[in-house]
Amino acid sequence: MAALWKGRRRWKTNSYFKVLARSLTGKYDYDLVVIGGGSGGLACSKEAAQLGQKVAVLDYVEPSAKGTKWGLGGTCVNVGCIPKKLMHQAALLGTAVKDAKKYGWQIPETPSHDWGTMAGAVQNYVKSLNWGHRVQLNDKKVKYLNMKGSLVDEHTVKAFTKAGKETTLTASNIVIATGGRPKCPTNVPGVEHGITSDDVFWLRNSPGKTLVVGASYVGLECAGFLTGIGLDATIMVRSVALRGFDQQMSGLVTDYMEAYGTKFAWKCVPRRIDKLPSGALQVTWTDTQTDSQHQDTYDTVLWAVGRAPETKALGLDKLGVQLNKETGKIIVGADESTSVPNIYAFGDIGEGRPELTPTAIKAGWLLARRLASQSTQLMNYDNVPTTVFTPLEYACVGLAEEEAERRYGKDGIEVYHAFYKPLEFTVAERDASQCYLKVVCESSGNQKIIGLHFTGPNAGEVTQGFALGFQCGATYSDLLNTVGIHPTCAEEMTKVHITKRSGLDATVTGC
Ligand code: FAD
Ligand code: NDP
Repeated sequence: MAALWKGRRRWKTNSYFKVLARSLTGKYDYDLVVIGGGSGGLACSKEAAQLGQKVAVLDYVEPSAKGTKWGLGGTCVNVGCIPKKLMHQAALLGTAVKDAKKYGWQIPETPSHDWGTMAGAVQNYVKSLNWGHRVQLNDKKVKYLNMKGSLVDEHTVKAFTKAGKETTLTASNIVIATGGRPKCPTNVPGVEHGITSDDVFWLRNSPGKTLVVGASYVGLECAGFLTGIGLDATIMVRSVALRGFDQQMSGLVTDYMEAYGTKFAWKCVPRRIDKLPSGALQVTWTDTQTDSQHQDTYDTVLWAVGRAPETKALGLDKLGVQLNKETGKIIVGADESTSVPNIYAFGDIGEGRPELTPTAIKAGWLLARRLASQSTQLMNYDNVPTTVFTPLEYACVGLAEEEAERRYGKDGIEVYHAFYKPLEFTVAERDASQCYLKVVCESSGNQKIIGLHFTGPNAGEVTQGFALGFQCGATYSDLLNTVGIHPTCAEEMTKVHITKRSGLDATVTGC
């Protein structure tokens, strides 16, 4: 008993001195430990190391329910922006091949697409990015641990390898950038027969006839590229498409997709999925407008019904890190601080933050600079531009027209708009009915621009530059004082002069 007591006293004394030593000298294993090696976590850890901090980053991928797994780099690199944009490009090339014939290229009457070739090339590129990230971390002297992390206290992280080997790391500051994962419905029997965006880019074989459930970014983009490579794709829309976006623009996006071949099941919700002996999936759904039941069979069901934050394994409740009870995301301040000192969170895991790669990267970079006392600059989350990479791309920055109207009143805004025809569509005889732009301005004073929307080829490329003007507080007259680049689609933005209020025909004619 005495020996036990002595032992306990020695342990207590040791750990007391360890804690005292830490708090007196500020000496931890690391200046910064980042949990999550995705867009945000990598940017944060690399910048911190660049500034001379001792940094470790943990990244661990829990395989999807279907067993899909991937390497370092997070959602964007492995199961998000990068494979998505490349498959979108595959689809655009299909359209370009059709256009090419009109431009004189001699192409077989029915060119076909091979899923395996596309997926293999995309996956190889993603693997090269995984490797590139590892090399960069090594070059910048960031310690990379392929381990799953959780918090012990505000300076301590516990980490496990896949095989269950445990390590403890201490750090002056801890950053959580663990992102999110796709959700699945909880009330649909047979839900497990479906896949998510965590799987679709890594399929060895073509998904075939696909039902995509969900009609926001992920649903529309995936259904768009599946249609574009020649597959039968249907989108099941519970309420509206692209909720939260300007609904006139959303209508143009879905009209184009319908004309392009994507099918839509409007105001429908899935009820059950049965796997037939043939392997096909029989989906039963309700049309909520008519309250009628319908059935069809698909090769694949893709759940695109939103994402859930990755907080469960982090042990946040024990430390009192405050979460939003509804969303499960971490409540953060303007400086990305959580409710517990020395613990920061940003990217998709942060409550109220846009779920976008550039915001995660910029926020991580700025946080690293602040933590290294190199800057006090906060991330500016206002005026974040974004693009939906649908067959006809849609990009915007600022307010939707309906939101502008809600904030400023109908007479408080002036909307300038134009239906334009991309030059490239003319010879190819493509329908340009949905190529449209609108600029929402304050109606008073010098007509500050408060919303900018564009559907058309390369919408993201077009809008990125205008987002700078937007950030600088551009007005409608600034826009008109800008000289266009001819012949481009973007130049139409600098010429827009028809107000919606006038009711005049907004179709652009001539140069
Ligand atoms: P993530 O990139 O998700 O990184 C988090 C990392 O942490 C992951 O690797 C995860 O495995 C790891 N992790 C989780 N828990 C732990 C733990 N306990 N220990 C260790 N590691 C852990 N955004 C755009 O801007 N443009 C696009 O075109 C675009 N397309 C998208 C397409 C799809 C299909 C999807 C799903 C998303 C897309 N996004 C796009 C969104 C973008 O991918 C995310 O906003 C971005 O990746 C978020 O970065 P993050 O650093 O917050 O998290
Ligand atoms: P969202 O949360 O934006 O949309 C979910 C969609 O699923 C909505 O259409 C929603 O309908 C529908 N839905 C939700 N639950 C159900 C259900 N039980 N049954 C049927 N439909 C349902 O999620 P996403 O996965 O599309 O996107 C997540 C985030 O990822 C985006 O917010 C975006 O920031 C990011 N992202 C960015 C991209 C880009 O920059 N290009 C591309 C892809 C993703 P309802 O409107 O009725 O709720």
